[in-house]
Amino acid sequence: MPNLVRFPLRLKAAGRSALAGLVLASSLAGLAGAQDIPFTAWRDGFASDLRSEGVDPAIVSAMLDGLEPDPTVIERDQTQPEFVRPIWQYLEGAVSDARVSNGQRAAAGISDTLIGVEERFEVDRHILVGIWGLESAYGEIQGNFDVVRSLSTLAWEGRRRGWAESQLRAVAQMIARGYASRDDLLGSWAGAMGQTQFIPATYMERAVDFDGDGRRDIWRNEGDALGSAANLLARAGWEYGEPVFTQVSLPQGFDFAGWSESQRRNVADWAALGISPASGEWAADDLYRSARLVIPAGANAPAFLVYRNFEALLRYNNSTAYALGVAYLARAFETGDAGMATGWPTDNPPISRSQSRELQEALARLGYDPGGLDGVVGPNTRRAIRAFQSANGLEPDGYAGLALYNAVIAADAAR
Ligand code: CA
Repeated sequence: MPNLVRFPLRLKAAGRSALAGLVLASSLAGLAGAQDIPFTAWRDGFASDLRSEGVDPAIVSAMLDGLEPDPTVIERDQTQPEFVRPIWQYLEGAVSDARVSNGQRAAAGISDTLIGVEERFEVDRHILVGIWGLESAYGEIQGNFDVVRSLSTLAWEGRRRGWAESQLRAVAQMIARGYASRDDLLGSWAGAMGQTQFIPATYMERAVDFDGDGRRDIWRNEGDALGSAANLLARAGWEYGEPVFTQVSLPQGFDFAGWSESQRRNVADWAALGISPASGEWAADDLYRSARLVIPAGANAPAFLVYRNFEALLRYNNSTAYALGVAYLARAFETGDAGMATGWPTDNPPISRSQSRELQEALARLGYDPGGLDGVVGPNTRRAIRAFQSANGLEPDGYAGLALYNAVIAADAAR
């Protein structure tokens, strides 16, 4: 799902909290207790808002009349995944043999359309097919939720009311302009629609009518769907024919303390620090490219220099694993070999949410400020991890893996 406005879902395992079970077991009447107003009060008030904003009353009726909240949406929204899926497991699934061969077959079926989209938007077609594969299994899995009902449920629930109501306003525009009909609007529980999994606001900003029939049909028309994905990437700064990333080797004694994932330098400057391609050597063209150094699973794991096109893919889905997955799929389509990185630290997986909370508590007791104690490893927790690593003779890579967790818990116990 494109993340012009999004929340991260992709890498989370489908964990299920005790709370989610309770919510499912409860009745809708019981659910209403968690909200500040009954659903019908929210619905009728929002319908009135839309009409006063000039939305055609017939469209408001088509969207909202008789609508009821969807308890499954509440359950999904309130489920906090316990386990963090390791990037190597994600990539294995994302770039499976089946996804590669299905993608080759799907692309062959629409080859003229793909070439047309590539020419019009100057976005590499193999990348578009990779996105198509990860978003909807080449159009096969688009989600069967009524997006208006899902977004209305989220708006009423209240945690993201402003976001959900703005998506519903975009839905009203989609219908008013004739791009799509009320009955078309199927998607994920969180409002991501069609073969590209666009949320409505992204649809209004980026979806296109590639085949020129007046509709932006990202559900049934591959040209509209892939053209819309290409338009999003083009507007995010896609550089046609340029690479997404290079897997690299770090030199002995690399200065992890001086590195951060947001630093951007020319490849020539990274090369001067002793960073080289994992296979082969830098070409002259590479050296002027602007790049960040991304190390997703710690110092003893694959490292990547990532380029402008990587950042464009993050606009689609703000996940390092996703962007790598799309690029590996594209390489598999183009050359027959994804060339996946090996040597992932399978004995040092990312820690779970409850372990992250324990880690944060132990870091705080040891005098390293992890920010909140919420079980989410964000920038503040990473900074605390790196300070702990530096003080304890470990590579300060900020990776919240099992080995780091064990070291912090031991240090806290020995305090
Ligand atoms: Ca169309």
